[in-house]
Amino acid sequence: MCSSSRSLKKLLLIDDNPTAQEMLSRMVVRFADGPWELDWADTYVSGLKMLMTGKYAVCLLDYRLDDGKDGLALLKEARSLGNTTPVVFLTAETDPALDEAALQAGAMDFLVKSEFTPRMLARSVRYARKLGDTLSQLRQLATHDQLTGLKNRREFERLLADEWQRCARFQRAFALVVCDIDHFKKVNDTYGHAAGDIVLRHVASLLGGQLRTVDHLARVGGEEFAIIMVETNRDEAVQTIQRLLVLLAESPCALPGVPEPLAVTLSAGIAMMPDDADTTGELFEAADKALYTAKRTGRNRLITASARNAVKP
Ligand code: GH3
Ligand code: MG
Ligand code: MG
Repeated sequence: MCSSSRSLKKLLLIDDNPTAQEMLSRMVVRFADGPWELDWADTYVSGLKMLMTGKYAVCLLDYRLDDGKDGLALLKEARSLGNTTPVVFLTAETDPALDEAALQAGAMDFLVKSEFTPRMLARSVRYARKLGDTLSQLRQLATHDQLTGLKNRREFERLLADEWQRCARFQRAFALVVCDIDHFKKVNDTYGHAAGDIVLRHVASLLGGQLRTVDHLARVGGEEFAIIMVETNRDEAVQTIQRLLVLLAESPCALPGVPEPLAVTLSAGIAMMPDDADTTGELFEAADKALYTAKRTGRNRLITASARNAVKP
């Protein structure tokens, strides 16, 4: 979650015991770095829902919750749903195995209720928040491309594998699009590498502005981009990408010191899951093959992989 929401002094306590809530409410207003706010959830379900808003700097999580459910399961479920809020366990349990399990599940600290002091709690919250911010920055660096701010290839491949599994389970279709800037080397050779970088950002921002937020866009190579268009059929994917290619061709890129804005075009290949491939590797191959055909037949165009059954004699 973004660090701006973490900069707020807002804690979430998930604990089925009202006494814990009363005690902690009194403590957090006296933290050495100024008063903190404490919101309280007393069940697994309401706790998970509030945690998933992403608006808390740190979550204080009890181990035993209602209905025999526990905080460890809640933490794992929140992480599997993409939540990254730092979590400090706050529990009556003293079992070292539980401490270890909490650490493995991604908890920042494990405090035993009968042992901690207000000063220890304040310190734990402060450390959890700082470490959470550092981890967010590292996660961003590991999953995004620095030049364009788009997702990088590794993150894209992870999302593609996820999407593949989801679509196989629910028998849904999605489109994989690979795009490559036409004659990009010439931009570098004529105007220099810095101008090439400007063109890359121009294309990235135009692509990003035209896609739905549910779609995934990544820079997967030097001047190559890839898109996962979720829950899309072939016709819808073709229409969207055609529109994008036209828009790009009509949006020349301004370069410093160059009087005329530069025309930039893309070639693209589309392949559909499940019609064109049985694996993510085959899907990439089919889209790449279509892209190659787009390049070979004149560039600034889109080619779709033919459904396998259609090309078989
Ligand atoms: P085609 O139309 O066939 O795709 O030709 P092309 O010139 O676009 O393709 P080619 O693969 O020959 O050249 C790609 C160039 O992209 C070569 C490489 O130096 C450049 N490149 C790769 N990464 C970057 C980058 O981060 N910044 C800049 N400015 N150039 C880059
Ligand atoms: Mg190219
Ligand atoms: Mg290329």
